[in-house]
Amino acid sequence: MADDCDIHDEMEALVLGRRLAAIRAEVQAQPNAAALAVGEPVDCEDCDNQIEPARLEVHPAATCCVRCQSLREKTAAGRRAPVGLSYFGRQSVIS
Ligand SMILES: [Zn+2]
Repeated sequence: MADDCDIHDEMEALVLGRRLAAIRAEVQAQPNAAALAVGEPVDCEDCDNQIEPARLEVHPAATCCVRCQSLREKTAAGRRAPVGLSYFGRQSVIS
């Protein structure tokens, strides 16, 4: 049978587990928080160049530089609406 100490330990573990989950969620939401807090540069995950400090001021969770973000958006836009294809996927006829 669980005594008061066991119950206390279980409650403490539960509280610590919840705190850990909250910290993990915060780190995932703000992956650059630790680097920004100590003033370290943050590298772009695509090209390894430093992400511009001005970009990080505006978008602290940015994981890539402006150039790579632009390329990502162009590539994503290209996938959603390929040139020459209509909304229904048929080849458009332009003459
Ligand atoms: Zn980059």
